[in-house]
Amino acid sequence: MTPHQARAADDQTRAADDRDLPLDAHLHTDLSPDADVPIDVYAAMAIERGIDEIAITDHVDFDPGAPAYAYVPFETRERVVREAAERWADRVAIRFGVELTYQRRHEEAIRDHLRRYRYDFTIGSVHIGPDSPYRAETVAAWLEGRPFAEAVEPYFREVEAAARSGLFDVLGHIDFVKRYTAQHRTAADYAAAPELYEPVLRALVETGTGLEVNTSGLRQAAGETYPSAAIVAWFRELGGRTITAGSDAHRAESFAFGLAEGYRIVAGGGFGELTVRRADRRHAVSVPDRFLAQGRSPALSRPIRPATMPDLPGA
Ligand SMILES: [Zn+2]
Ligand SMILES: [Zn+2]
Repeated sequence: MTPHQARAADDQTRAADDRDLPLDAHLHTDLSPDADVPIDVYAAMAIERGIDEIAITDHVDFDPGAPAYAYVPFETRERVVREAAERWADRVAIRFGVELTYQRRHEEAIRDHLRRYRYDFTIGSVHIGPDSPYRAETVAAWLEGRPFAEAVEPYFREVEAAARSGLFDVLGHIDFVKRYTAQHRTAADYAAAPELYEPVLRALVETGTGLEVNTSGLRQAAGETYPSAAIVAWFRELGGRTITAGSDAHRAESFAFGLAEGYRIVAGGGFGELTVRRADRRHAVSVPDRFLAQGRSPALSRPIRPATMPDLPGA
């Protein structure tokens, strides 16, 4: 079997697996500049695949040069999603969410936006913008000659600030920078640098902000979820109790992609439920028994804990 055939077979197994799940909490429709899926396509797929609830989380950016800056007005996004929610109400629950790009320098604008507009559910994410060193054109030079942790630290510090802001229900893909460094650095490099993650995880716990298990990494060069199973388990040990899972689909074929693996990682990390806000308050969404029955995932029964990982109280 060629690597390409192996990958295709793997994807087929995954698609068969990614069914009968209670929630996909991260989806982009054609109201995002980088996605092309009409909301009704997701609704129909959710019904066909047995996904009970979906959160539509189109991009909103605050940097005037960014693609989703003033892309579709709030009122339009709200109307499209709420009308679809009504149309499909008896077969799938559709939430009106958003993925807000976090940048420290735009924190006040984000705060204002969230004061003015009401969403069912909010994700805050750090993305790779036009002035980021992690862009394809600059990443190799940036990594060259810098110790690994120092090179990726600016990304993690921005994510920590997003958590500290307390603005969001959940932080999206907390180590998304993995995608951009994948040609040069491996998942093992990240696993060996827990000091990058610890301040982020502690900020999430202290502010009550949720962690997202984003499965788009499984279909991207990173080759694992954002973040990995070991980080999810560590979040739990540090006191994290609020977690979601989402496929972050931008194309119809990515809908719910890898989501079962996401639930496996959630359950393997010791979580029995996801948490999603539905407008007025947070709700628990039970992880299906088939994942809980598997217990701690094999990778976590003997956690890969690098020598530099600090000892955890009670762990
Ligand atoms: Zn994102
Ligand atoms: Zn997204």
